[in-house]
Amino acid sequence: MISPMRYGKQILVPEFGEESQKALSAATIAIVGCGALGALQAELLTRMGVGHLRIADSDIVSLNNLHRQLLFTERDAEEGTPKVTAAAARLAALNSEVSLRTLAEHVTRDNIAAFAEKADLILDATDNIATRYLINDYCVSNSLPWIYTGVAGTGGLVLTILPREGPCLRCIYPDPPGESDAATCAADGILPTTVALAVSLQLTQVVRILNRTAVPGTLIRLNVWDAAVRSTVAHRDPACVCCGQRRFEFLDAGAREATPLATSVCSQRMVRIDARFWEGAFDVERALADAARNNATVQRKGLLWIVTAGVRRISLFPDGHMLVHECTVTDEGLAAVSEVFR
Ligand SMILES: [Zn+2]
Repeated sequence: MISPMRYGKQILVPEFGEESQKALSAATIAIVGCGALGALQAELLTRMGVGHLRIADSDIVSLNNLHRQLLFTERDAEEGTPKVTAAAARLAALNSEVSLRTLAEHVTRDNIAAFAEKADLILDATDNIATRYLINDYCVSNSLPWIYTGVAGTGGLVLTILPREGPCLRCIYPDPPGESDAATCAADGILPTTVALAVSLQLTQVVRILNRTAVPGTLIRLNVWDAAVRSTVAHRDPACVCCGQRRFEFLDAGAREATPLATSVCSQRMVRIDARFWEGAFDVERALADAARNNATVQRKGLLWIVTAGVRRISLFPDGHMLVHECTVTDEGLAAVSEVFR
């Protein structure tokens, strides 16, 4: 049931109207990442009355997230609450009619199909280039629309991808840039106003995809400081490895590895260790027994285990991935978890 009381003001906008409201209320949208982009996407889509929302994120809330990440509070940062846990509580309070499913994991080639099952479109809200190429492979192979959004500093880029109708990410950027070439918020900083402008443009594209007025390949470059928004239309490359040759290098096992075992988390002084660290099935009981034998203390907090060994603090998630706190060097993070769980 669409409430005219609740959504009347947006239905009154002729470009939007009742048809868009119906389409939005019936839609399932999967958001990959719940940082600045994902939190604002989730909040606005929830308020606008999306039918079903899925959010995946493997991170916890930190104090330096709060200037740009809606949904989260100082208490979430103090307690190191997983972002999806904090988001779920806040979103349920904003609109109880939206059905929400969360995943406290990184989206990988192994879980993307289950995460995005029955989704009508995917929104990119990652700070991770490899994950975007994975989303592109998945969406092209399943003919699923997705919207790429990258922001850094005062600028950003939004690209509407409608497989079969227009270009994919690899038509425009055939290969991922090296991590050092890529502008990331760790290096450049980010203004919350940049995020808000990018998400406004991105979610308007969502509505246009759902009401079938989107132009495939719409490529929007924005700079909030210069008050500049420029939109062009990009075209398909018939020789594209992904949508032309239909080789899905980031999705197919044994091809390119999408996620390194250890990554430094954007500006948070944390190193993220992938669940592949455990080499096989993750057994939490055995891991906690190993930690105890190595004189670490373990505390259960929500869905996490907080493992403390000397000055080292590690957040352990149910799927086996970990965050090593106050650590920026990936090798140090790996050494720390190897020591605690040896
Ligand atoms: Zn392509």
